[in-house]
Amino acid sequence: MDRTDIVYNLAEILNCDARKYEPLNKHTTFKIGGVADTYVKVTSLSKLSAIIRECRESDIDYMIIGNGSNILASDDGYRGVVIRLDGDFRKISLVDDDTIYCGAGASLAALCKFALNSGLGGLEFAWGIPGTVGGAIFMNAGAYGGEMKDVVYSVNHLTPEGESGRIEKDGLDFGYRTSVYRGNKAIITGVTIKLKKDDPENIRAKMDDFLGISSSAVLKDTRTATLRLAKSTRALL
Ligand SMILES: Cc1cc2nc3c(=O)[nH]c(=O)nc-3n(C[C@H](O)[C@H](O)[C@H](O)COP(=O)(O)OP(=O)(O)OC[C@H]3O[C@@H](n4cnc5c(N)ncnc54)[C@H](O)[C@@H]3O)c2cc1C
Repeated sequence: MDRTDIVYNLAEILNCDARKYEPLNKHTTFKIGGVADTYVKVTSLSKLSAIIRECRESDIDYMIIGNGSNILASDDGYRGVVIRLDGDFRKISLVDDDTIYCGAGASLAALCKFALNSGLGGLEFAWGIPGTVGGAIFMNAGAYGGEMKDVVYSVNHLTPEGESGRIEKDGLDFGYRTSVYRGNKAIITGVTIKLKKDDPENIRAKMDDFLGISSSAVLKDTRTATLRLAKSTRALL
């Protein structure tokens, strides 16, 4: 028993995956961290709002964990509620020709693949950065000269009071590995991003280049393998 039980019980009633004394080392890339009093996977905005309101009314600390790739959790664990965004928060959809809405719990990799399959370029830099979209916005993740700020149009969030809100690009205060969310304690729930129409082959080639897989090297290898196969089967003389 501890103070977070009230939130744990609420999460159970809301049909969330709620766990007591969950080791944080299971949820951080560096496999470190003691137990969180309560850990909850929240699947919808209304459930998240209910849980945040309960934390506020009962004066219980909470924190959001994404993929845990930028968190060094203490061996002492966390005396509060650790929240992971799941379910609806992993959804990605096309808003119009060049605009995508993505839930904050989706992985950056899933968003990059969605953009590739939609023939939308501009996010290639993010291919290979581990983490969720929420975590990437929180710290304006970037690589190879690109940053989230280059593609973000607006961000949806839930305030510490449990109210929905939205901040347009100009108000997001993006800087080097930082955003307005480092200071305002709101939970990022989703992001609208604007990209540019491009040929999926170009997008794929840029993603491969950024990962260090030179597309020309791959092509060369493929060509050599095809020639070898053709010779061995006497298709080429
Ligand atoms: C091998 C490796 C390579 C990396 N390469 C890069 C790189 O090239 N570029 C780069 O920028 N980073 C890089 N990182 C760091 C990390 O991938 C990024 O910081 C990533 O954006 C973190 O996302 P996450 O979901 O793992 O966030 P977490 O580590 O889970 O959380 C990070 C912070 O964001 C907050 N947060 C997470 N989700 C939300 C939300 N929905 N609302 C509010 N706050 C939230 C958390 O509370 C925490 O304070 C790398 C990390 C590793 C381990």
